[in-house]
Amino acid sequence: MTDTKEIRQVYLDYSATTPVKPEVLEAMLPFFSEDFGNPSSLYTGGQTAKNAIRNARGQVASLIGADESEVFFTSSGTEADNWALIGTALWKRDKGKHIITSAIEHHALLHSGEYLEKEGFEVTYLPVDSDGFVRPDDLKKTLRDDTTLVSIMLANNEIGTIEPIEELCKIAHEGGALFHTDAVQALGNIPLNVRELNIDLMSLSAHKIYGPKGVGALYIKKGVNLPGYLHGGAQEAGRRAGTENLTGIVGFGKAAELAGQNLNGHILKLRELRDYFIDRVLKEIPDTIINGSQTSRLPGNANIVFKYIESEAILLRLDIAGIAVSTGSACSSATLEPSRVLSAIGLAIEDVYGSLRFTVGDYTTKEDLDYTMEVLKEAVIKLRSFSLFSS
Ligand code: PLP
Repeated sequence: MTDTKEIRQVYLDYSATTPVKPEVLEAMLPFFSEDFGNPSSLYTGGQTAKNAIRNARGQVASLIGADESEVFFTSSGTEADNWALIGTALWKRDKGKHIITSAIEHHALLHSGEYLEKEGFEVTYLPVDSDGFVRPDDLKKTLRDDTTLVSIMLANNEIGTIEPIEELCKIAHEGGALFHTDAVQALGNIPLNVRELNIDLMSLSAHKIYGPKGVGALYIKKGVNLPGYLHGGAQEAGRRAGTENLTGIVGFGKAAELAGQNLNGHILKLRELRDYFIDRVLKEIPDTIINGSQTSRLPGNANIVFKYIESEAILLRLDIAGIAVSTGSACSSATLEPSRVLSAIGLAIEDVYGSLRFTVGDYTTKEDLDYTMEVLKEAVIKLRSFSLFSS
């Protein structure tokens, strides 16, 4: 970045979170002030709030092809993951104490698994191949009579790989286990239909689809009688106690409605921008490699190895130039631990440390990417000139 260039603010971290869309904010605002009632109150103000929640439940349900009675609002995708994993393990413990998940799940799942292990459950973490795919045969071989739940994410937050969920779900069911998927990254970025996939449980989050932070949902298929996880009042049909996050839920509903209205356009736009960026990086910056699947991946995700450099150093240079990107997932980038996901796909440790995640979204423009390329090229040349390993 030379001193004379104008700094442009470029956000390329849409997998970490997204800005709230103006229409979403507009839908939320009345529920902070004039329509602030408690949805459990019987008088008119309470009923207005209750109706707003019902409407939002329908909006979220329709984005995933569910019935509105199957959507249970939570405080986050993390809570939905905890409820699905720990809740199911406890509920089904008389049948068995074995759970299967994958090595590349979000911490919300992995740390829930570790918690269950401390409580006497057995958890198998399936490996993935070099593209990040869980192999259906591995699942077949790992299922046992005492396996109660299989939980495999729909799309990975770091490398964007979309798992063969329909097939994995079928195998789990044939083995007599329930199937949960963490669809936090997939929602609003690929078409999703719980009926077609035949999923039992699915975790969702609002802030990845231009809704507010601090609100998520767990889809629970009708007939799957997963008990409540938070105990108290009768909210969420008695399965998730606590006065509802009214404004958050209304925002989630609106964001889901908007995502559903333009899903194909959104996917095409993101894919085009992402591919444009990847093409330019591969052509213009030597010794770069794309991580993850080239065919089955989220439309906005580009996870790239810059050989011979520590990606953190690139990230800081991009930040000075106004560009926001990420090393690893947002939740682990504050730690200096190498990414579990990149290690699981078999990357050499120096390439794990040389990887950066760029995720484009609805507000990304080609000019943003051109500017990023300019800064990136300069940063890579400069950093490689200090590197002992570059040629
Ligand atoms: N699962 C995945 C795959 C995610 O990417 C995230 C957020 O980064 C979560 C779960 C957690 O969702 P939330 O931030 O709503 O707790």
